[in-house]
Amino acid sequence: MGKPRNRSHAMDAIFDKGLLTKLLSGLQNDINTNCWVWQRCKDKNGYGKIWWEGKSHWVHRIAYALLKGPIAEGLTVDHDWQAGCDDRACCNPDHLVLMTQSENSSKRWEKANEQADCSQ
Ligand SMILES: [Zn+2]
Repeated sequence: MGKPRNRSHAMDAIFDKGLLTKLLSGLQNDINTNCWVWQRCKDKNGYGKIWWEGKSHWVHRIAYALLKGPIAEGLTVDHDWQAGCDDRACCNPDHLVLMTQSENSSKRWEKANEQADCSQ
């Protein structure tokens, strides 16, 4: 077991049908914003969490890696507020954008890396 991994670590594209099913079954479409809102576990900042391979992950990162592709080292996945999305639990791939960590922190990043208990 190593140190806790930094939030900016890279993530490969994911091809996992079971995980995709689990993701989609936890989402609900908001017809006003077209957000795909995660209905299950969230951390205290409102980011959705999903349990996968023995760890909890941010669901919007998982959604990005499943539906769009890899996340490069040093980049974070954020919600595209310019597209009208301001829901941290949203997983609509059209609302997810990559940005550098500094852009993200200057915008609105708060300390959000607490592990929520999402093992259920
Ligand atoms: Zn959205």
